[in-house]
Amino acid sequence: MRIIAAVLLSMLMFGACAEQKSDMSAEVKEVNFADLSFEEQHASIVSDTETAKKGLAAKGEYSCCVMPPCNWCLINDKHCNCATHLTKGESVCGECGQSWAIGRGILAGVEAEDVKWGPDNVHSH
Ligand SMILES: [Zn+2]
Ligand SMILES: [Zn+2]
Repeated sequence: MRIIAAVLLSMLMFGACAEQKSDMSAEVKEVNFADLSFEEQHASIVSDTETAKKGLAAKGEYSCCVMPPCNWCLINDKHCNCATHLTKGESVCGECGQSWAIGRGILAGVEAEDVKWGPDNVHSH
């Protein structure tokens, strides 16, 4: 949603100095996500998920056990506790489980074959 936020921000900025710069308001272009090409939508989604995860991580709400961090927990749980679950010997989300299987685990002392995860992507909270 970064594009929309940028548009809103520039609209606000133009609004604040509308008297002097009313001629420039014609240059403010609405960008609807639905009107973007798939490649542009994809780039926006990837970039936005990274931004969202970084924001959650800064608040201590994205504690993932793999690198790059999973997307499953972001979409389905709005946070990631996979590292905590793993430390307690509990299951992790399916994406984290798969990531461990291909060598992307980042928790020291954990072996990929010991990581519990299910094909249904469900993990305990
Ligand atoms: Zn995760
Ligand atoms: Zn996860």
